[in-house]
Amino acid sequence: MPLVVMKFGGTSVDGIRRIRNVAAKVQVETSAGNNVIVVVSAMAGRTTELSETVGNISRMFDAREFDAVVSTGENVTAGLLALALQDLGVPARSWQGWQVPVRTNSAHGAARIENIRTESIVTKFAEGMKVAVVAGFQGITQDGRISTLGRGGSDTTAVAFAAAFAAERCDIYTDVSGVYTADPRLVSRARKLNRVSYEEMLEFASLGAKVLQTRSVELAMHNKVRLRVLSSFCDGPGTLVCEEEEIMEQRAVSGVASSRNEAKVTLISVADRPGIAAAVFGLLASADVNVDMIVQNISEEGRTDITFSCPVEHVSKAEIALNEVLESGAVRYRSIVADTEVCKLSVVGIGMRSQSGVAAKMFKALADDGINILVIATSEIKISVLVDRKYMELGVQALHDAFQLDRC
Ligand code: ADP
Ligand code: ASP
Ligand code: MG
Repeated sequence: MPLVVMKFGGTSVDGIRRIRNVAAKVQVETSAGNNVIVVVSAMAGRTTELSETVGNISRMFDAREFDAVVSTGENVTAGLLALALQDLGVPARSWQGWQVPVRTNSAHGAARIENIRTESIVTKFAEGMKVAVVAGFQGITQDGRISTLGRGGSDTTAVAFAAAFAAERCDIYTDVSGVYTADPRLVSRARKLNRVSYEEMLEFASLGAKVLQTRSVELAMHNKVRLRVLSSFCDGPGTLVCEEEEIMEQRAVSGVASSRNEAKVTLISVADRPGIAAAVFGLLASADVNVDMIVQNISEEGRTDITFSCPVEHVSKAEIALNEVLESGAVRYRSIVADTEVCKLSVVGIGMRSQSGVAAKMFKALADDGINILVIATSEIKISVLVDRKYMELGVQALHDAFQLDRC
């Protein structure tokens, strides 16, 4: 029997009425002759609330116990949805990650799925069950501890199940109608894209569009999962994430992404000689600092400045690591300056590979609004800049207008 995977995010399962709405949508699929694996998130806000509770009870908490607590929101919605489906007369059963099991590595809080055993669910389908409701975001490590996949991780659970079960498609239901040319909460005239390539979606996700977790897009791309993003609350075809060849229209820029909580850290007056950058960034990597953009200035009299960006919440561990290296004498620099009030704006598009002038247009649009660019980084299909956080909304809007993204 054909199998589809449907995933419902936090807002879609927020309360009894919405869970019943989800059950009705799932029933449409079973009535059409499909078996369904439904992946659910915790109710909106629940994961944040659970993480804060952990932080309140213990400042230097054990990551394994953090996962034991924050994974529980999904257990509740999985059980409730199975009950709502049974009420409609649809044979359904819930699974927590460990029951499947979904095996992950032991990077608690940001674990990666290693494999998914299909037997227990396949056996139940063979016995006449129509819907397996799976708690998203969670798995079990080799040593039997509960793990979680990082914020937004239920998207990744859904794609991983679609790949493991060779599902016909993987539909991600959320609170917007698809992937837009910019976050529709920031740009009222943002336009829904009918199709977006895996590569562009990967950039959008990693540059701050939280509509899909980055890892879920990587997995979908690698396993050629047919992925759709659509609304739980209104009908419509949503956005198909697919191969580049399936997309007719190739604009230079397909959309704008933004990431609010970025920081810029500068090491002032570092010796300009081989091995220094390796030492600095090696140390930051060992301290688990997620370094993004890097700029090194032209040196003067053998000394230079090195600037990098990272998430705001990584600044203190970066400073601790850099102070240690200074004390040990391994790297010498005059001072560290951290600016924690910046954000990242990016334009993304596969058409950029063949069209020139995108950077100039982007910089002019920002300049026209008096927005100063602090750091620039480019890749084949994206250009990103760091700017003061107070300009984020203005900047996103300016870029959306400059590339006329509201027009088809
Ligand atoms: P869920 O709880 O369903 O997983 P998320 O909150 O994780 O939903 O993701 C959906 C949100 O992503 C939307 O409400 C929207 O504000 C945000 N978003 C950011 N960028 C985009 C974009 N380009 N297209 C659509 N949504 C976006
Ligand atoms: N509940 C988790 C979160 O809020 C996972 C998810 O919803 O995807 O991040
Ligand atoms: Mg999400």
